Amino acid sequence: ATPTATMVGTAIGARTGVLFKGGDVLERVRDTDTVVFDKTGTLTEGKMHLTDVVALEPTTDGGVVDRTTDGGTETLVDELEPEDELTEEFVLAAAASAERGSEHPLARAIVDGARERGIEVVEPSSFENVPGHGVRAKTSHGEVVVGNRKLMRDEGIDPTPASDAMERLEHEGKTAMLVAADGYLVGVVADADEVKESAGEAVSDLKARGLDVLMLTGDNERTAEAVAERVGIDPGSVRAEVLPDQKADVIEDVQSEGKRAMMVGDGVNDAPALASAYVGTAIGSGTDVAIEAADVTLMRDDLRDVVKAIRISEGTLSKIK
Ligand code: ADP
Ligand code: MG
Repeated sequence: ATPTATMVGTAIGARTGVLFKGGDVLERVRDTDTVVFDKTGTLTEGKMHLTDVVALEPTTDGGVVDRTTDGGTETLVDELEPEDELTEEFVLAAAASAERGSEHPLARAIVDGARERGIEVVEPSSFENVPGHGVRAKTSHGEVVVGNRKLMRDEGIDPTPASDAMERLEHEGKTAMLVAADGYLVGVVADADEVKESAGEAVSDLKARGLDVLMLTGDNERTAEAVAERVGIDPGSVRAEVLPDQKADVIEDVQSEGKRAMMVGDGVNDAPALASAYVGTAIGSGTDVAIEAADVTLMRDDLRDVVKAIRISEGTLSKIK
């Protein structure tokens, strides 16, 4: 671009909250052929709330909670009086006290949801975060693990008794998390997040312009596909269960196929992916790391501004013959 074109494009963008960083960004935005959206906080509002708590049916044969065995150690089973039920309150209280140690939006939603339901959330005596998987903590409800299937398997806990509940919630686009206490799978909690109002229109406009649209997330495949369906992204274009430090690798894979990818994210877990992309775009109340790593910053939290950025770049550069 000529200095004038750059100036004009940059000024038009700035007036409407689309900030282009540096001189050649307009060209790169124009030449983008693939847009990769992060899910949480980008396609969705990023405001998680607790939606469901499921207490699993205690059984002695399937082994969810075996009240007949007493290994002599202090376990959940010991603490349960025979008349005690494995209740939703227990599941939520256990999950919430473990999650009190975490800053993750999923954790915040569980703690807030428990408090709103009148449950006292006691601080764990020890806590460990397992990034991209969940948490482990010593709580007044025993040794509690909250997280995904892989985390449970790593703990030697079979997640399959919760499969029906997990799959039902995931089909609803919710993030379902398994809860175990003292080695027993006791229940499931689920958080959900609203899809941004602007998401559907942004995706359909990008597709109409001939761009490929992908979604990237650490969340599980079923939840990811349910959210993708709501915003018009094809199931085949979903990259799920991507660990935080692998998001940049996914962008590099896409680009190694010769694509010029714009990554759109809020900077939570995805700053390296923003930096790897042909164009990194930070959205909304993007974190400082995101703005730092990005080539384009969208000041408003409106996904249609992704399309606007492309339109501005095309409009400005088409003046140059
Ligand atoms: P995202 O890409 O949506 O930000 P993360 O990479 O942070 O997701 O986490 C991936 C998955 O790991 C979550 O969908 C959830 O199943 C599990 N997980 C992560 N953190 C927690 C937590 N604090 N409690 C329970 N589960 C968690
Ligand atoms: Mg994230």
